Amino acid sequence: MPASTRDYPADAQLESILAKELGRQRDRLEMIASENFVSEHVLRVTASVFTNKYAEGYPDRRFYGGCEYADELEILAQGRARKLFGAEHANVQPHCGSTANMAAFFAAMKPGDLFLGMNLSHGGHLTHGASVSFSGRVFSARFYGVREDTEIIDYDEVASLAERLKPKVIVAGASSYPRIIDFERFREAADRAGAALIVDMAHYAGMVAAGLYPSPVPLAEIVTTTTHKTLRGPRGGMILCRRSYAKAVDDEIFPGIQGGPLMHVIAAKALALGEALEPDFIDYQRQLLKNASRLAARLIDAGFRLVSGGTDIHLVLIDLRNKNITGSQAEIALDKAGITANKNTIPFDKRSFSVTSGLRLGTAALTTRGLNESDMDEVADFVCTALHNVDDDSKLKKIRERVAAFLRKFPLYPGLDF
Ligand code: PLP
Repeated sequence: MPASTRDYPADAQLESILAKELGRQRDRLEMIASENFVSEHVLRVTASVFTNKYAEGYPDRRFYGGCEYADELEILAQGRARKLFGAEHANVQPHCGSTANMAAFFAAMKPGDLFLGMNLSHGGHLTHGASVSFSGRVFSARFYGVREDTEIIDYDEVASLAERLKPKVIVAGASSYPRIIDFERFREAADRAGAALIVDMAHYAGMVAAGLYPSPVPLAEIVTTTTHKTLRGPRGGMILCRRSYAKAVDDEIFPGIQGGPLMHVIAAKALALGEALEPDFIDYQRQLLKNASRLAARLIDAGFRLVSGGTDIHLVLIDLRNKNITGSQAEIALDKAGITANKNTIPFDKRSFSVTSGLRLGTAALTTRGLNESDMDEVADFVCTALHNVDDDSKLKKIRERVAAFLRKFPLYPGLDF
């Protein structure tokens, strides 16, 4: 057997790390709102032989030989993406959500152009204009946010900023905004300002695919997404756009920003998009929403204040100020209790991004594991007990043991060793 494919002795060091990570995912409550568990099939396809293939370019326009099956694969993925979201054009090559956004911005703007994005501390994403991101360094970003009284996007502010500043682009979409975004109002503001509308639906893509969240696709010139959140595909990005933007978007992804596409990930995207076209994907999205609203109700019963008073989607954002704990204390305590989540700023937060006053919890991954709304009562109890005992390591350890025992009812990748 050639050296490159012979059976190497087991790499004990690496296998031990992989096995520990599988154990972590199995034994802890995964509540990071941007994570999910792909199907075993998607997991397997992500490790396919397409990892070996260079395919710079696009189907029938490659810069390497031997791309006939890569072409077939990419055409399949594009077609499924267009069908699932009713889009005129799909680019499935972005390595992640950030490069998808970068390509969308460069397709619609020139360096130095002004755009409107959502304030990071009100729920926006780094790539929507933060000064530490390419988006705030290459382009000139201005921000809209939520109203202080309702914590709902201030659509009047969006309209007046758009009218006054005449941005080239308005970006809608967020990472920690628990409500449905009114894309129609963003479209109106963009039209009045003569701006293009880019929607980043990374968090909502699965719900949009299932028809349970308004689709931005008919309204926006360009829609970007990650494929690994509620859409439940492999880690990656994707762009949907109008035909008139297709060439600009494709040229920005390659050769503008990326080199060879990750064809093994595109294979997994094709598979995940196929899964999302099946009727039971809608059941999954319905359950994820039921789980989030049950979680929200139980947290409110336990005296926690939720930003905007609740949720319409798969995540809740807890305002911890009335409990006198910070987001980072909460994250650490939950970790000790076997619950994985992340600290998050809340609108008008006075604490820094590394401390924060909020905690973001999501239900996408737990719903994939099979938890339903009655299980969420127990999950909420674990979370609330941990948050009420952030300094009591022995109580947190007991919760961790209870969490691991509880999760044995919901096996994760039962056939896998690592
Ligand atoms: N856009 C939004 C709204 C996100 O929440 C995220 C990540 O969480 C991204 C873009 C970036 O995705 P990635 O981490 O794949 O670059």
